[in-house]
Amino acid sequence: MRIEEDVKLDFKDVLIRPKRSTLSSRREVDIARSYQFKWSERTFDGIPIIAANMDGVGTLSMARAFAAEGGGLTAALTKHYPLDVLLDFYKKEGNRNVWYSIGVSERDEEKLDAFLASPVQKEGLGIDKLCIDVANGYSETFADFVKRMRDKLPDVTIMAGNVVTGEMVEELILGGADVVKVGIGPGSVCTTRKMTGVGYPQLSAIIECADAAHGLKGLVCSDGGCTVPGDIAKAFGGGADFVMLGGMLAGHDQCEGEVETDKDSGKKYITFYGMSSDTAMDKHAGGVAEYRASEGKTVRVPYRGDIARTLQDILGGLRSACTYVGAVRLKELSKRTTFVRVTQQINNVFGAS
Ligand code: 5GP
Repeated sequence: MRIEEDVKLDFKDVLIRPKRSTLSSRREVDIARSYQFKWSERTFDGIPIIAANMDGVGTLSMARAFAAEGGGLTAALTKHYPLDVLLDFYKKEGNRNVWYSIGVSERDEEKLDAFLASPVQKEGLGIDKLCIDVANGYSETFADFVKRMRDKLPDVTIMAGNVVTGEMVEELILGGADVVKVGIGPGSVCTTRKMTGVGYPQLSAIIECADAAHGLKGLVCSDGGCTVPGDIAKAFGGGADFVMLGGMLAGHDQCEGEVETDKDSGKKYITFYGMSSDTAMDKHAGGVAEYRASEGKTVRVPYRGDIARTLQDILGGLRSACTYVGAVRLKELSKRTTFVRVTQQINNVFGAS
């Protein structure tokens, strides 16, 4: 056993210190980024915020709303859409705003193969961005799977995760990932920290993983733990190239969930659940397998109407953060960020609930 004594930080442990700036309005700030991916050599031009590949977030309706917004936001689609629905979407609406998501199961790979063999893919309208997502990115089989996908899909951009430490980021990038997804335990409907004791404070994970990735010309996507627009600014300030959002995008018309009304308060809500929760496993896998425990929870989130207003808040907050530190472009935010610590270590890493 070993104890690491270094201070590790979460979003709540810091604030961004304001800096002298020549910017007079947040309208002058450009929050889009341009990247060329290490392996696929494709380019990305857009706002690097990604809707999480969760039921109720990574929906086709969310992708359509992002396309309508026009800033190049993307949604990682939940892997549970049937093949014909996905093919139809790609054929009609193209691939700009979506990542195709898979786990490492045979079933997922068979569906992917069927997509790749389809006329949609052959006509060049199909999958150009792939999100390979598992709860624990530390297994050898996962690294092997990423390598195999890279060999099979040399010109598809691959995002893979989740991990939280530099050495595993390096392994995944060297194995073929263009972007590594970073985050174990910070999610709003995640109970991994409670159920297993495993996790890593998200801001430190971003800082350490970004450093490892950038050294190899790879990128990182901070996944989980953002609860307010300021957290997104902190993630980018810490060096994240992309930020993935689940809970912040839940509860909208685009979530494809049922809007219900609480009998006592009369307030409208939508049910939102983790992808390893009992709810998800009952829905997609016929229940929780005997050897595992659920590592996600089911919550009610207030119904918030159309996503457009929320997006405006998120993007406005991010632009404003850039203004406070004098970053004309999002690209400069990290260089211009000084974090001020505002908490003592050892407080509640398990979130509010
Ligand atoms: P949020 O933005 O809601 O804080 O976090 C979203 C992320 O939480 C997702 O992208 C995913 O990585 C993670 N997540 C989603 N469902 C579950 C779950 O059931 N268990 C765990 N451990 N993580 C989850």
